[in-house]
Amino acid sequence: MHCPFCSHTETKVIDSRLVADGDQIRRRRECLECGERYTTFETAELVLPRVIKSNGNRQPFDEEKLRNGVLRAIEKRPVSIEMVESLINRIKHKLRETGEPEVKTRKMGEFVMDELRVLDDVAYVRFASVYRSFQDVSEFAKEILKLDQEKSINQDE
Ligand SMILES: [Zn+2]
Repeated sequence: MHCPFCSHTETKVIDSRLVADGDQIRRRRECLECGERYTTFETAELVLPRVIKSNGNRQPFDEEKLRNGVLRAIEKRPVSIEMVESLINRIKHKLRETGEPEVKTRKMGEFVMDELRVLDDVAYVRFASVYRSFQDVSEFAKEILKLDQEKSINQDE
């Protein structure tokens, strides 16, 4: 926490109390460099929904697992780690936005696919092929065809 007056990094907490029904902590701080006092509010990060697997099992949201899935899909593709991290943040945001205590794996997979589609075609198809467990090859081929058509539409613009 930097002092807003002089940017010094060392502060002393002189008072600390729960506010907003215990959802926030209000801290009164004093800068050890310039002696200015200021207040900070800390809010706990919103809880992410639990994930319902296709067999009905519930498990906590696993960011590492999501990241690994995305990293596998973008392997040898021109996608930077920064892009992956912001993609993961957007997905977490979407998950929180649902306001649901539980979200199906499939739903989460669709969020990821929506993001990858914009980012990189190949990564999208790779991820979709794993996530959607296509019934047969023709369904997969249709998906790729759809992608090509969208691309040509975009090029016409
Ligand atoms: Zn200061």
